[in-house]
Amino acid sequence: MQETPKIRSFIEEFIAQDIADGKVKGHVQTRFPPEPNGYLHIGHVKALYIDFSMAERFQGKCNLRFDDTNPTKENVEFVDAIQDDIRWMGFQWDKLAYGSEYFEQTYAIAEDFIRKGLAYVDEQSQEEMRKTRGTLTKPGVNSPYRDRPVEENLDLFRRMRAGEFENGRMVLRAKIDMASPNIVLRDPTLYRILHIPHHQTGDKWCIYPMYDFAHPIQDMIEGVTHSLCSLEYEIHRPLYDWVRDHCDLPAHPRQIEFARLNLTHTVLSKRYLRRLVEEGYVSGWDDPRMPTLVGLRRRGYTPASIHDFLQRAGFAKSDSVVDIRLLEHCIREDLGENAKRAMAVLDPLAVTLSNWPEDKTILVDCENHPGHPEWGVRQLSLSKHLLIEREDFQEDPPKKFFRLAPGREVRLKSAYIIRCDQVIKDENGQVKELLCSVDLNSLSGQEGANRKVKGTLHWVDAATALPAELRLYDYMFPEMPGAAQEAETEEDGSEEEAEVKRDFLENFNHDSIRLYPNALLESSLGQAKVGDRFQFMRQGYYVKDRDSTADKAVFNCTVSLKDSYKP
Ligand code: ATP
Ligand code: MG
Repeated sequence: MQETPKIRSFIEEFIAQDIADGKVKGHVQTRFPPEPNGYLHIGHVKALYIDFSMAERFQGKCNLRFDDTNPTKENVEFVDAIQDDIRWMGFQWDKLAYGSEYFEQTYAIAEDFIRKGLAYVDEQSQEEMRKTRGTLTKPGVNSPYRDRPVEENLDLFRRMRAGEFENGRMVLRAKIDMASPNIVLRDPTLYRILHIPHHQTGDKWCIYPMYDFAHPIQDMIEGVTHSLCSLEYEIHRPLYDWVRDHCDLPAHPRQIEFARLNLTHTVLSKRYLRRLVEEGYVSGWDDPRMPTLVGLRRRGYTPASIHDFLQRAGFAKSDSVVDIRLLEHCIREDLGENAKRAMAVLDPLAVTLSNWPEDKTILVDCENHPGHPEWGVRQLSLSKHLLIEREDFQEDPPKKFFRLAPGREVRLKSAYIIRCDQVIKDENGQVKELLCSVDLNSLSGQEGANRKVKGTLHWVDAATALPAELRLYDYMFPEMPGAAQEAETEEDGSEEEAEVKRDFLENFNHDSIRLYPNALLESSLGQAKVGDRFQFMRQGYYVKDRDSTADKAVFNCTVSLKDSYKP
């Protein structure tokens, strides 16, 4: 378990008050309830944080419960991945449960609601139900099936379960109030027919409860005292309370909402991320541009940097959009301290040392981290043929260009000072090689080598350099400063939402990957394993990617060296 975060949130105050009022019998119990219809994103970590830290704060417990009441989009791949991600973030759940474990009990409660006159089977079509629901200003209209006798309702509901009817033929609805100002309370659907096998219960069920009915029941069965969720559930709270108060279960959970985490330049809701994956905008859930935990991990983010980010982003009650540069700032700080230094040339330009013998190779010491002398040095080979960054040379540079140019001097990192004497071009006039002379008395660290020059360049030795592909990323949504995603619960999914979805894809940045397929790495990086992180000097922080092969390494740029963000 992570250290208890320093949250002093309104949620903590509510819970403390409930304890003081004697409303909490036994321990504080929370749960994290993901729907296994996708991978976790960084927004979920906020929810995880709140669920786990509130339990810990009050010496309580937090369960992981899969909210798996809609088999159409759910599967075991997601169930497994979600558990991996939660462990990776360092959280440990108490009980692991599936909402589907409680289907039998949930069904029994539904029958009980029918017997109490609180629910009825409606045979109106989806279309009719939508039309008779009314609007914000117009009350809904009662269904013609609303007052059918209890016996008939029970019979139909049992036949629904027995599989007599096709999908959509009828639903079980709560009998609340078609004129309620809160549309959620206008006889919401409690059960629908879905002839679809379920990843946990197989073919056992062909009717499935809706979230709004199942969730409070699951909370009560597990003895949840505080059901913490994001703000889109706030208008559903009266329904949560209605279900709870009509169940004959002893528990009395309280729903408390908090703001969703939104980040600039990305989307933080599974249903949006899912479309990016399914429609091929990204290579998968773990595409390094994705704000999913698998994406962030592949991008090089550490759990510690994500925890740090959430602490700093805070836990306000109202919705807000956090600058994604704060997240970048957190990983930059982490890697600045913890990543080893190495040299990589993204776009190589050949340098030949004219006064260096063809067959002479020396080893130079290069420190692994300037702030950690105890991490030691690695030895890099240096011979007559080297490569530097093409960008580090200009034929006709401005005055303040402290890199290489004809007649100018630079130091090669941890090695010698060189001077560019001659520029060789190919038939198209492109610079293809620089002839440079070495000041043989200038080796870094050597006695007497205290001559200083303004610029220091990274480089690799042609004889030992390793080929690599480096991948740099830009934002998926550069035009999106705010929350283009209005979070919705599944039940709220509407045409307006579909509209938002279309819009968000139009803004996708198709130029969000830049490849350097001919990059070269210093030879020590041959030891790197997938997931190892480095600072490529003067370039940025990089992590070795799983697309690497024996012949060619692939590295993702996690974040640049420069910070444009002032926290
Ligand atoms: P979907 O789009 O499928 O509804 P989701 O991103 O809302 O996906 P859920 O599985 O519905 O994810 O959410 C699981 C839990 O995480 C819920 O308690 C929800 O309130 C919380 N949660 C989801 N997204 C965020 C977010 N961006 N910020 C904070 N909490 C979130
Ligand atoms: Mg959701």
